Amino acid sequence: MKQRIPLIAGNWKMHGRLVANTFLLSELKSGIQNLGLDINSKSCVAKVDVAVCIPFPYLAQAQSELQSSSVRWGAQDVSMQAEGAYTGEVSAAMLNDFSCAYAIVGHSERRQYHAESDTMVGEKARRLLDAGIIPIVCVGETLQQRKDNLTEVTVARQLNSVLSAIEDSALSKIVVAYEPIWAIGTGVTATPEMAQQVHAFLREQLIVKNAELAEQVKILYGGSMKPDNAASLLSMKDIDGGLIGGASLKSADFLSIIAAARLAV
Ligand code: PEP
Repeated sequence: MKQRIPLIAGNWKMHGRLVANTFLLSELKSGIQNLGLDINSKSCVAKVDVAVCIPFPYLAQAQSELQSSSVRWGAQDVSMQAEGAYTGEVSAAMLNDFSCAYAIVGHSERRQYHAESDTMVGEKARRLLDAGIIPIVCVGETLQQRKDNLTEVTVARQLNSVLSAIEDSALSKIVVAYEPIWAIGTGVTATPEMAQQVHAFLREQLIVKNAELAEQVKILYGGSMKPDNAASLLSMKDIDGGLIGGASLKSADFLSIIAAARLAV
């Protein structure tokens, strides 16, 4: 029996256009209703939290098209600043204007292509919490770090930098996503056992901060989670859901991962 309600969150990355989004979101909404997961459906039998993290320009579209459903929406990044002369940045308060429930911080693509440091990721998480938005904090090692036996050191450093930036009492309000970089968008997945080992280690790090609140934190797995491997990953004790890139762009695949999460409850 899972202790935490699973969360399946899509990361659309820089994909989507107005018309295509409407199709995808409406297929998602009706698929979720068919699975009996919609809060408005009378047959709501088991709970899985579902969200899509989408490009900034489409947040208003998501708000209008998803607000009457149980699917939540969010962004893929946020500014570490509150307001001011920061051209191109989007603040947590702005995300709040569009009722974002979540925002991803520290995705490896932002760390790699935008030189985001651990400190910046911590600041971003803090800004989101101040605005009432749940940060999905991504951590993960490169293939070389794994080969050098540096997986735990790397994810501990990334996670602890966020934990030291936020109030202790806010611990239960974050989501952590373990995303081994070598598995993102490659079709190569961590085995369930490999992922579980890192998830259990991350849980231990959270427990050091606050044992009671640590039990409430969802730790998602991300990195080529697909319909054919979702069930085995999601059955692991400390895997509380998935952050889904490529497979979140195809409604059938995303829905089948959501269905697997429901069975893993
Ligand atoms: C991601 O980018 O967060 C991700 C998990 O991508 P994919 O599922 O495509 O590996």
